[in-house]
Amino acid sequence: MKRRLRPIVIAASVLALGTVIARRLGYKVGGNTVVRCRQGHLFTTLWIPGVKLKAIDLGIARFQHCPVGNHWTIVFPVRDSDLTDDERAFAATHHDIRIP
Ligand SMILES: [Zn+2]
Repeated sequence: MKRRLRPIVIAASVLALGTVIARRLGYKVGGNTVVRCRQGHLFTTLWIPGVKLKAIDLGIARFQHCPVGNHWTIVFPVRDSDLTDDERAFAATHHDIRIP
C-alpha cells in the first residue's frame, strides 16, 4: 500500500512546493491569478498548479483563451506588485470561465 501511495505523495509535494516558490517570487498562483497575454491583455484566471481543464500547462506559462482579445494565446502570471491600481481593477473585471 505504502509503495503505491508514494508517487502520489511525491507529486503532491512537488506541486505544493512549486506553489510556495511561485508565491515567494510574488506570483499569486493557487487561485485567482492576474495574467497577461502575449498581446498585453490583462485578465484574471483560476490558476491552480497541476490542475487545468481548459489550458495547456507550460510551467509558469499557459496556453489558453484570452477573454479580453477573444483569442488563444500564451499567458503569464503577473506579479501583483508590478500592477498599477488601474491594471488591477481592469483585471478584476475581466475573468475567464471559472474552471481551472
Ligand atoms: Zn489577449
